[in-house]
Amino acid sequence: MANVAFIGLGNMGGPMAMNLAKAGHNVNAFDLSKDALAQVEAVGARACSSPREAVEGVDVVVSMLPADHHVESVYLGDEGLVHVLTDKQLVIDCSTISSEAAIYVGEQLQQAGIAFIDAPVSGGVGGAKAGTLTFICGGTEANVDRARTVLNDMGKNVFRAGDVGAGQIAKICNNMLLSVLMVGTSEALQLGKANGLDPKVLSEIMLQSSGRNWTLEVYNPCPDVMDGVPSSNDYQGGFMVDLMSKDLGLAQQTALKSGAATPMGALTRNLYHGWSQQGHGRQDFSSIFNYLTPITKK
Ligand code: NAD
Repeated sequence: MANVAFIGLGNMGGPMAMNLAKAGHNVNAFDLSKDALAQVEAVGARACSSPREAVEGVDVVVSMLPADHHVESVYLGDEGLVHVLTDKQLVIDCSTISSEAAIYVGEQLQQAGIAFIDAPVSGGVGGAKAGTLTFICGGTEANVDRARTVLNDMGKNVFRAGDVGAGQIAKICNNMLLSVLMVGTSEALQLGKANGLDPKVLSEIMLQSSGRNWTLEVYNPCPDVMDGVPSSNDYQGGFMVDLMSKDLGLAQQTALKSGAATPMGALTRNLYHGWSQQGHGRQDFSSIFNYLTPITKK
């Protein structure tokens, strides 16, 4: 079992840290939120008062933070961990951030002799709770193998996409595709509903037909079609619109830089941005269903 520091205990990081503690790892936890800390403390993690306190003497540091600037500040800021970590420790950043930021943080840590991989995840809050996440890693093979000791207790798949930063590229490709599937599924369900179909029946039909996809299987966006998903809980919990909007922005930046054509990704980026601007940024991303309600005919 490893000694692990876990930084960032939100919707994803909280259950991931809990799974590590339940698996028998010694977990030092830190978050800016006292409530988040109290929850992981209840399952045996040790609550720490700063990132520096959390990383003292651990083998592995795992972070699960919202965006580039949070990750850069935790590792490279004035109080950043780059100043205290040693060459015995491995950093695994599971946040979804730009590949540029992952490469920059990785380089700065590596210059100080500290091993780093980016390991963004897929599988959502359900996967984080169930310990079935997919980790999409960027880093050397040796460092990804070292990380498996802890990743295997939080997920069921560990992929290596390439060198540091490659995990982030693979992750935004996946999330861009997910947003297209979510918008398409929402549109189809709204079209059916507007023409008198029961969305439950229509979902079953599409699940057994060529429109089948992940959102219909486990994350139906229409309220009351499926139990235990955000759409049946007023779109609370899950993966926030603002985080999806951030990922779609990252996908567009990456597409511009590489010359890749991503017209569907550009469209979903605009839809999610607009939905957030209307005050829905903190709802689950399946709430885009409500952005697509039909025009009432007079
Ligand atoms: P969240 O907002 O629920 O949690 C982020 C946590 O980080 C919060 O508890 C916040 O207090 C903490 N935090 C912020 N700055 C900090 C700092 N300087 N030090 C310590 N803690 C700090 O977000 P989330 O849904 O858990 O997502 C985290 C990351 O995982 C994001 O990059 C997101 O894109 C990615 N992700 C989320 C999902 C999902 O379904 N929610 C799925 C896959 C990937």
